[in-house]
Amino acid sequence: MTPIGEFVPRYRPEFWGALSERERLEIAIGAILTQNTNWGNVCVALERLNRAQVLELEKLSKIKLQKLQSLIRSSGYFRQKSRKIKVFAEAALNRGGSLKNWLSGPLEETRNDLLSLWGIGPETADSILLYAVQRPIFVVDAYTLRISRRIGWVRETSYDKLQKFFESHLPKKSFLYAEFHALFVSLAKNHCRTKPLCAGCPIASFCATGLRVMKT
Ligand code: SF4
Repeated sequence: MTPIGEFVPRYRPEFWGALSERERLEIAIGAILTQNTNWGNVCVALERLNRAQVLELEKLSKIKLQKLQSLIRSSGYFRQKSRKIKVFAEAALNRGGSLKNWLSGPLEETRNDLLSLWGIGPETADSILLYAVQRPIFVVDAYTLRISRRIGWVRETSYDKLQKFFESHLPKKSFLYAEFHALFVSLAKNHCRTKPLCAGCPIASFCATGLRVMKT
């Protein structure tokens, strides 16, 4: 989220649960923008949206599609994503105009409502619920799947089953889920890459793949 007076978003865990509507919106838009791209590209797009001062539901619903496309071009798939952002902003306005109120309803119902919007899949919906309004829902991404399978925790590839696995093994706490997710991302970037660097990996001693690699 971006502090007042700045334009580039950054992770600020100290503000977990104490977010403004603008920050919640920035997080939700970031969750849409991050589809099929890396966070660096998303940051560039969010910075441009911040500088253009359009991170408000009304403004996003009214901004010309072409203008929005040019602002978020760095995130890739900008034509689709600009439509997704507009669909999301219009849905939020139709549901009262407050992300906090809209997304704080009964969890399953609210998640299904998000999933009913064009362009919002399970990972995006859960990221919005976890990071924008701190609902206790575990976000599964490609890193989570890769690491969990290599460790030997799961064979599942289905989003829902993997999510249930984590939610049934961890206390139902949103901050814990967010920290877990951040640790998976960090592990995937530093060690558990496409080609894993098991030597020096902090969890090699209880990872099935790591133990096998170290023996050879
Ligand atoms: S030990 Fe290797 S396979 Fe296991 S998590 Fe670490 S890098 Fe990935």
